Amino acid sequence: MVIVLSVITLLGGTIDRAAYILPILCPLLIGFPFAFHNFWQREKLRLAHEELTVAHAQLAAAHKRLSEKASRDEMTGMLNRETFFAALDGSRRRSDRGALLIIDADHFKRINDNFGHLTGDQALLMIAGAIRGAVRSGDVLGRIGGEEFAAFLVGASQDEAKLVAERIRAEVELLRFKPEEGRVVPLTVSIGGTNCATDANVSELMRTADKWLYEAKNRGRNLALLDTGIPEAA
Ligand code: GH3
Ligand code: MG
Ligand code: MG
Repeated sequence: MVIVLSVITLLGGTIDRAAYILPILCPLLIGFPFAFHNFWQREKLRLAHEELTVAHAQLAAAHKRLSEKASRDEMTGMLNRETFFAALDGSRRRSDRGALLIIDADHFKRINDNFGHLTGDQALLMIAGAIRGAVRSGDVLGRIGGEEFAAFLVGASQDEAKLVAERIRAEVELLRFKPEEGRVVPLTVSIGGTNCATDANVSELMRTADKWLYEAKNRGRNLALLDTGIPEAA
């Protein structure tokens, strides 16, 4: 107000009523639309930001679902081969204690040949369920081949690994697979396993577990054989 009145005086103007009203009216006339425009823009920005946050959360959830789906075997829900080995490799790098088991369905080709592939799938699902029921909740399970599964028993000692392997074998043997009415067909698995020495890498562990699986098949199947994974004392 003082500035406006000084300017009017300097320019030789008269200080009348308008001279007092003008400095009050002008800021109101100019300021209000500006303030409203400013408020409106900020509100639009805030809403856009909120929408972006929601979209971002939805994208993150979709991404999680997709990568979860890509890491799992669709039929059994277990980890697929790549993800299982990546998990095992991660555990090796941390030198976690534990044991690796490879579990292979016995004479599974016969099941398919006799009852068809779809019925064979039902048998595989039953075997997967028996494996899941025989391990602890923190253990890592994978379907690493058509009728071949793997389990990493986190923190398991040699004795615990033997117990779990035997439990898996026995649980599968107890399954009552009925591909036809009134007919129960036995299902069995052979298991090869090894305890994880701290310095053993994934390929070495797989080789050892595979060797024992082969031995279990040779000795007549429906058998669990484990290596200690610990070098013999000299
Ligand atoms: P072995 O005791 O020596 O392991 O005999 P096997 O018959 O189980 O082994 P082989 O390797 O000769 O055959 C594996 C069979 O598993 C043949 C294949 O069709 C079947 N198979 C693999 N993946 C699937 C699947 O996803 N579904 C079904 N139904 N069968 C499968
Ligand atoms: Mg087999
Ligand atoms: Mg096989």
